[in-house]
Amino acid sequence: MQKINDCSLCNPKNEKVLFCNELFRIIHVEDSYYPGYIRLILNKHVAEMTDLNEEEANKVFFTLLIIERHMRATLNPDKINLASLGNMVPHLHWHIIPRYKNDRHFPNPIWGEITNTKYFVADNLIQQAQKLINLLVTEQKFLKKS
Ligand SMILES: [Zn+2]
Repeated sequence: MQKINDCSLCNPKNEKVLFCNELFRIIHVEDSYYPGYIRLILNKHVAEMTDLNEEEANKVFFTLLIIERHMRATLNPDKINLASLGNMVPHLHWHIIPRYKNDRHFPNPIWGEITNTKYFVADNLIQQAQKLINLLVTEQKFLKKS
């Protein structure tokens, strides 16, 4: 598998991996403002979805839909941000981020300007995020289909 020495996603450190197959891994991003923030990272160093063959791209999308469904069911977000940027690290990865109208950056992306400095994460949201993580770990039969 092609690996790039100076790529942080080819050489991950301290990732909280929930699931891994030959094509990709799913991690929980530990961000205190965004519990339940999930990232899907391709194992090989490619930049764009069109660098994947059709079967691989379908597997990625299928899995994103599964994660999104579980996220909606457990966290009931106002919006889900599904983002593939890679401007800083051109190694294909998807962010799946639950968003709330009163969260720290809404309606900006979470990397944008802070709009609500008083926002704090409610305890029940942390508990629900743990449920999401448990689901993604335990329901790997769905993910193994992909
Ligand atoms: Zn890479």
